[in-house]
Amino acid sequence: MSRLAVDVGGTHLRYELVGEKEEACGSVSSRDTEPARFIESMLERYPDIDAVAISFAGQVNEGTIVAAPNIEVAVTDIRNHFESRYGIRLRIENDLNCAALAESVYWGEKDLVAIYSGTGLGSGIVEKGEICHGWRNLAGEIGHVPYREAPFSCGCGKNNCLELYASGSGLRKWMEYRGCDGDPDLGKLFRSPDGRCREIAERYVTALLYGIGTIATLLNPKMIVLGGGVVQHSLFLKERVEREIGKFALNVSLEGMKIETTRIENASLEGAKLLLDTM
Ligand SMILES: [Zn+2]
Repeated sequence: MSRLAVDVGGTHLRYELVGEKEEACGSVSSRDTEPARFIESMLERYPDIDAVAISFAGQVNEGTIVAAPNIEVAVTDIRNHFESRYGIRLRIENDLNCAALAESVYWGEKDLVAIYSGTGLGSGIVEKGEICHGWRNLAGEIGHVPYREAPFSCGCGKNNCLELYASGSGLRKWMEYRGCDGDPDLGKLFRSPDGRCREIAERYVTALLYGIGTIATLLNPKMIVLGGGVVQHSLFLKERVEREIGKFALNVSLEGMKIETTRIENASLEGAKLLLDTM
């Protein structure tokens, strides 16, 4: 039999097929690919698939897609759809939860939080080796913690989310608002001769520190792993966070706590593969 892991992000849909006869992996644009239709096309090509695990960049609960701000979804009741029509087992989990699970296994730490700053800002919490879900699987939404009012709105509809400062989309929105040209690249913003650009970069770091400090104080993890596109393009961030995090968290929460930058290329897909092992 074969098993399929799928990572549905805002830009890419990545997959990996782990089979007895055949193995395959690849990436397609998630803008042109509806997740359930993609899985159906894989079932046609590989009829021996008997289990599917999905890492999904949106809110999911009990096998159902609850909200997907950046992804077109036709089938929301996705677990029931595949179990009843095709007789295959399916598990779907939030992408940050999947990433945190993969980080926990990679670093060998059972009490860990992954904080990823890419297009958005999110976190996944692993406690005693298990994903912390919250009542309706909404735990870890650090990006939407109220922070400061901004002159534009977040994808969630509010205008004061941490994500508006400490994410790639936030950087882009501030650059547009302030009339700064170029890419939302933190290193370039810091090196810019334009003071407005440097200020946006500085505010990003302060907001990220606020998010990391809040997580450390609230959840007391043994390790925080930073990841996501903005962090992975700005490797100087780790040192800066280590130097300044003391101002943003309770001192005893930081004692013995480690901060690392991710070393996994696609942690959410790796996490989906780990979910397959639990099915
Ligand atoms: Zn928000």
